[in-house]
Amino acid sequence: MKQVVVCRPVNNIPINGAMEYLLDAEGSVRIFDSREQAEKELRDAGCVDEELRHMLFLESCGACLRCGSPLFKSLIPQYKYQCFTCDEDFYRCEQEGEPCGTHTTFSLCS
Ligand SMILES: [Zn+2]
Repeated sequence: MKQVVVCRPVNNIPINGAMEYLLDAEGSVRIFDSREQAEKELRDAGCVDEELRHMLFLESCGACLRCGSPLFKSLIPQYKYQCFTCDEDFYRCEQEGEPCGTHTTFSLCS
């Protein structure tokens, strides 16, 4: 099952494609175990279908090479992935370990 994060247009108003992520009580980006779980919790919190339709459910696309947390597609065009635990966006080469000659890669530290 793929973990998901939820984002929506800032203040529910689509402007310049700006998106905000759903946060947990501690202020970290909330990571759900599945899309179904995310939708259920949003409904339980009072979200209606109309609101859910404007939300974006991003599925995890791997594990962060740096910290092992779920990796998600970046919303920033020039980046491929983002890790909420590292709070960073990554180029494809940084997470897939394929030196592209343009961006530096980092090695795994234990
Ligand atoms: Zn990470």
